[in-house]
Amino acid sequence: MSGEISFFEQVNRNFDKATRYTDYDPTLLAQIKRCNAVYRMSFPLRRDDGSFEVIEAWRAEHSQHKLPTKGGFRYSAMVNEDEVMALAALMTYKCAIVNVPFGGAKGGVKINRRDYSNAELERVTRRYTYELIRKNFIGPGVDVPAPDFGTGPKEMAWVADTYQALAEDKLDSLACVTGKPLAQGGVRGRIEATGLGVFFGIREACSIAEDMKPLGLEAGVEGKRVVVQGFGNVGYHAAKYLQNAGALIVAVAEYNGSITKADGLDTEELLAHFRETGSLLGFPGATEVESAAKTLELDCDLLIPAALENQITVDNAPNIRAKIIAEAANGPVTSEASEMLEERGVMIIPDTFLNAGGVVVSYFEWVKNLSHVRFGRLQKRWQSQAYRDLLKAVEDMTEKSFPKDVMKAFIKGPGEADLVYSGLEETMATGYQEIREIKLRHGKGFDLRTAAFIAAVDKIVLCYQDLGVFP
Ligand code: NAD
Repeated sequence: MSGEISFFEQVNRNFDKATRYTDYDPTLLAQIKRCNAVYRMSFPLRRDDGSFEVIEAWRAEHSQHKLPTKGGFRYSAMVNEDEVMALAALMTYKCAIVNVPFGGAKGGVKINRRDYSNAELERVTRRYTYELIRKNFIGPGVDVPAPDFGTGPKEMAWVADTYQALAEDKLDSLACVTGKPLAQGGVRGRIEATGLGVFFGIREACSIAEDMKPLGLEAGVEGKRVVVQGFGNVGYHAAKYLQNAGALIVAVAEYNGSITKADGLDTEELLAHFRETGSLLGFPGATEVESAAKTLELDCDLLIPAALENQITVDNAPNIRAKIIAEAANGPVTSEASEMLEERGVMIIPDTFLNAGGVVVSYFEWVKNLSHVRFGRLQKRWQSQAYRDLLKAVEDMTEKSFPKDVMKAFIKGPGEADLVYSGLEETMATGYQEIREIKLRHGKGFDLRTAAFIAAVDKIVLCYQDLGVFP
């Protein structure tokens, strides 16, 4: 990324580009753009061998126009203050785009989780949570973390447990963090939510024949050749759902080895191999690609960067051969590289929209924790009986019987996972149509990222205007 600006500056550059198409008060826009609060902390970690190490960590709350603020926290050796502020800002815009009532936040702990034992990771997570509690940077109505790069349900369970141990009012305390395991107050569907949301977003974009035609592609995801970078939570799930819908996963890149297979990789088998060996290399029938960076440059219809930011920069953008880039990661394509690619006619489905599935389902989990009732618990039986009665009435009228499997599918009644998936699908489909409409309103060549920022700013501005603070 020779000569390119920092991640937070890139987010702000995208913001500035979008707000040029609006006529909002410049002071109001400056307020929205700024990161409101950053807590930078250091604390000692006792390693298993008895030695000590100083750990650096951050939590940034970008905007409190809605509360609580919301955003994951990551374990990454590369994390820094600028990155956390950039990611917090993206959360603000993301939540607004998909109509989730949160401000944006993000956290980071500067460690490579592979270098630490389980017990050390637990100590780090609990201490990080304690620091957040001390400075009022966590709480069901204040700031609610979630998983991100390098963290998952286990870390969220430690956060919840630490918070609960210290909370004064325990009634709603499980809502202090989302992405928890089911038994600790999690919601069904959260683990796969971001990848599934990525799939729903891509499917919606690819379903519009007039948008696919200029790219030389048919409508639909079936048969599309897909390259995925990062086979973690988001990358694996996105690949899995795309494969199930008929796409071919022709290459997958990981930090320690990348592979390609022209007739498609089986994601389930690949995951089993990756878990067993710790590498994608050696997967039967696949060929090794020289590097993760080179994998991004393979010929494909759909490229899904699902690892980290700044993966496609002005340096490698000219070599990218994908027709669509679906930003599953946050900030994988730099602002300048984005413009270069858009000029070449590449379609970029932006992160601010595409990876919002995680926060959408986190919102459902938060609502579940506050309402203290599982989704579907009240209506499942009632709805099942209503459908049974309806189908029975149709059978009586027509004197014909429904096939048993049809009947079974109808009268099942929605469980928690059905409702979560349905809410996620609806959010991603309508979210895409909303930003596409803004894009079309601004004429040919207008990009989806700028349209998504306009959608976000329009909604955030309303919050401030309703307060009467700004004109
Ligand atoms: P993860 O830790 O589960 O997976 C990331 C994967 O990327 C890992 O397998 C890692 O080994 C791999 N990786 C790291 N560097 C790489 C490189 N240079 N080349 C290829 N692979 C590399 O993390 P995740 O939760 O899947 O997050 C991935 C991205 O998605 C991040 O940008 C994150 O901010 C974003 N995101 C995650 C969520 C969520 O719910 N987890 C939600 C929204 C956005």
